[in-house]
Amino acid sequence: MPMQQPRKQPMRKCVGCNEMKPKRELIRAVKSPEGGVSLDLGGKAPGRGAYVCPNVECLKKARKARRLERAFSSQIPAEIYDGMEAQLEAKNKNEN
Ligand SMILES: [Zn+2]
Repeated sequence: MPMQQPRKQPMRKCVGCNEMKPKRELIRAVKSPEGGVSLDLGGKAPGRGAYVCPNVECLKKARKARRLERAFSSQIPAEIYDGMEAQLEAKNKNEN
């Protein structure tokens, strides 16, 4: 495990549970300049971002409350949400 200098962590709010968490513990959902919404698992994609905990529960809460739609001011089709949930499930499976 790499040693890290202690420093102030940037905090972001999860769109699912509404809790402030360190940015690096959250996953960024991004709206690309072309308008597509996806999970930015690498954290490097360009575009407008919103943050969610790395669990499907929070993503589902955000989906139910339409918080990503609000964050991106655009409609998000069901298949996009399904895709993001699958992306997250796959990621969590790989890490366990
Ligand atoms: Zn959350």
